[in-house]
Amino acid sequence: DDDLDLLEGATVGEDGIITMPALPVLAIVGRPNVGKSALVNRILGRREAVVEDTPGVTRDRVTYKAEWNTRRFTLVDTGGWEPDASGINASVAAQAEVAVDLADAVLFVVDAITGATATDEFVVKMLRRSNKPVILAANKVDDARQEPEAAALWNLGLGEPWPVSALHGRGVADLLDHILTVLPSVSAVAKEEYGGPRRVALLGRPNVGKSSLLNKAAREERVVVNELAGTTRDPIDEQVELGGRIWRFVDTAGIRRRVHLQQGADFYASLRTAAALEKAEVAVVLLDVTEPLSEQDVRIIDLVLESGRALVLAFNKWDLLDDERRRYLEREIEQDLAHVAWAPRINMSARTGRHLEKLVPGLELALESWDTRIPTGKLNAFISELTAEHPHPVRGGKQPRILFATQASTRPPTFVLFTTGFLDPQYRRFITRRLREVWGFEGTPIQVNMRVRE
Ligand code: GDP
Repeated sequence: DDDLDLLEGATVGEDGIITMPALPVLAIVGRPNVGKSALVNRILGRREAVVEDTPGVTRDRVTYKAEWNTRRFTLVDTGGWEPDASGINASVAAQAEVAVDLADAVLFVVDAITGATATDEFVVKMLRRSNKPVILAANKVDDARQEPEAAALWNLGLGEPWPVSALHGRGVADLLDHILTVLPSVSAVAKEEYGGPRRVALLGRPNVGKSSLLNKAAREERVVVNELAGTTRDPIDEQVELGGRIWRFVDTAGIRRRVHLQQGADFYASLRTAAALEKAEVAVVLLDVTEPLSEQDVRIIDLVLESGRALVLAFNKWDLLDDERRRYLEREIEQDLAHVAWAPRINMSARTGRHLEKLVPGLELALESWDTRIPTGKLNAFISELTAEHPHPVRGGKQPRILFATQASTRPPTFVLFTTGFLDPQYRRFITRRLREVWGFEGTPIQVNMRVRE
């Protein structure tokens, strides 16, 4: 897998865990038929024929690894856009906008022979708002006689147009040289990527059974507990085999090394929790079923939600649960944990080891949801159906419409709705609920953001 090509600045741990800075991201943006696909192929150095855009089909963003003069970057192609029936290309602009948000710089391709169209001008406005560096490629300049056509694109206000012929390769090297001067060496927007075992934060207030769980997991499975020196000074991670798979429990120093502080203990604990979450992909929040659910429990869960990590709830000390307490517990869950009803729940006992192995399917489910990507086509079909059945209520004589939806990112799944007006919070919650009904997303928070078009 080419994911394992190491970047400069990458570090490899003893255990094979790779920490790498993310490659800089270049988004390529342009109308259909400007020669975007041909240019993508040129940049990637592919010899095969130009990928044909299928008109009317919204392709998702496609990500490629590109390299020029030994420098590598990620190229994001925003797909074949067709202006839709409503004229102003909601989906064009929307896809572009998301791609641009997730990029370090933008390559905007214009057909120099046709000249700038209204759609081009529309995209330029969006690019300006984004404040990202934009490189303007004036395509179809197949020979010197057409250079003046390229020069005419100065009036887009995006700086110097770079005349290229994607078809013949003319000017592409110069363009790439220029792109490298604009791209940072490490992405400022893309998240860092890691290889190795999935990273788990074990969270919960003091005495819920975190260290018991850790010990039990390490002992029961007769493995691994090798201590890994973390990347920063203090935190220590431990690798534990559970369910036939190695998991990396992050920042377990805080669990192993008990710190009893009188003052500021809460503050210290939430710092630890935040630090562990920073490194983790999924959190297991332990709750002690022998005690009433506390504010602190809920606060810890909220920290997980804020961090956008996946979540599994482990109800510990189940061996001590009696019928009466159990009834209370169920009521508490209904009342205080309704907002995380989507999180897998495991009833377990760290002391006896009972149902410890059930954590694994919970973790796997939560991580899978966290990584889920809904294709743009399916998402928009879902939105059309939903809005047809349940239109947004009219507000002040106006009815906000959703023009287009796209999933901007995973980890956690984050959606962007492009709308003609503000959606009621209630309506957004309704959409979120329906997203969960259709796709589950068990174990992951999801975000639904909104962009209002005037
Ligand atoms: P931590 O502060 O979250 O690391 O909690 P510990 O693992 O130190 O556990 C606190 C206390 O609860 C210890 O006395 C444990 O033996 C006990 N304990 C932890 N898990 C269980 C459990 O599942 N059942 C019972 N009965 N006791 C538990």
